[in-house]
Amino acid sequence: MTTIERDKKYIANTYARAPFCAVSGKGALVLGEDGREYIDLGSGIAVNTFGFCDEDWIKAVDEQLHKLQHISNLYYTQPQATLAEMLCTRTGMKKVFFSNSGAEANECAIKSARKYSYDKYGRGRHTVITLQNSFHGRTMATLTATGQSAMHEGFQPLLPDFKYAPANDFDALKSLCDDTVCAVMLELIQGEGGVTPLDKEYVSRVFAFCAEKDILLIVDEVQTGNGRTGSLFAFTQYGVAPDILSTAKGLAGGLPFGACLLGEKLSDTLSAGSHGSTFGGNPIAAAGAVNIISRIDEPLLESVREKGQYIRDELSSLKGVKSITGLGLMIGIETGRDAKEIAADCLDRGLIVLTAKNKIRLLPPLNIEQELLDKALCILKGVIGK
Ligand SMILES: *Cc1c(COP(=O)(O)O)cnc(C)c1O
Repeated sequence: MTTIERDKKYIANTYARAPFCAVSGKGALVLGEDGREYIDLGSGIAVNTFGFCDEDWIKAVDEQLHKLQHISNLYYTQPQATLAEMLCTRTGMKKVFFSNSGAEANECAIKSARKYSYDKYGRGRHTVITLQNSFHGRTMATLTATGQSAMHEGFQPLLPDFKYAPANDFDALKSLCDDTVCAVMLELIQGEGGVTPLDKEYVSRVFAFCAEKDILLIVDEVQTGNGRTGSLFAFTQYGVAPDILSTAKGLAGGLPFGACLLGEKLSDTLSAGSHGSTFGGNPIAAAGAVNIISRIDEPLLESVREKGQYIRDELSSLKGVKSITGLGLMIGIETGRDAKEIAADCLDRGLIVLTAKNKIRLLPPLNIEQELLDKALCILKGVIGK
């Protein structure tokens, strides 16, 4: 049996996989089992921050792998403390909880919000408002937080007391905020929902309203974080400071890792025994993350913004392109055609692109070389203009 046949026979059928089996990669290039080389504009869904098998990142991970792979969270390790200090210093947040994934980072965010409210106000103030069309993960709590009924189907009953507001409608959100609400949770740019940015005006009104009512603002930067949008985290471009910030995907450059950052109000909310994880903060993944975060500096961020603008300029005047959304190197392209069909055509021509709802979604490695980017855009233009 081929790899694809064995996969289909033995792996739970949760993914509509494209007919491509990846074997090895370097930078933005990946070699398939079919012997062909593909240009990757997806980065494993914003995970491979510096592409495949980046040398500098391998060195950092490999060094840690040869020192200590795991000890458990009952003890201290150097990579965790180093990373936590970096993240807090650069975001202004006060404390970090490390997890293995985005959903787990969001679980921590939701638990922390409820605990904060419980400690301060007692029972009954536990409702979480999220946005329609949002995506926060696949565990029961984060699935409930995800404002897409199609994903809920078959898994009811969901967790009680989550409510969904339409994005960019402040009055609708406000009308849901009764005295049972402890938090509002949102993505600044809805990723899976179609690369849809929230309005700045809306976000700053939500922020001010939440601050006034002591409702916690949870910003889910699992996808938008770690340099993706041209700043370390997107919230700085929105001019707001979240109470809770979650991230994962690109954080460790390809290793499973997540972080839930807690602001001033929540710095003492979690106490010993109140939350935990066996693998969360794993030293190898943390060493990978230290390498990634230390390399996301201002020159890199500037090049992310420039490359993002370059892609927009190249594609916006193209016949067949209806709109381009997103920020930095998180880009959504609306065309008249079915996005899945375009992605399949691109794959045929040696280019990997993602989709989000009916948009083409580009999340290239942050350091993609200009020459490869041009080659990729040439293929993409050929397919869109077809
Ligand atoms: C991917 C994603 C998640 C879930 O992350 P996992 O690592 O798959 O659990 C949560 N929120 C957002 C915004 C995401 O893009």
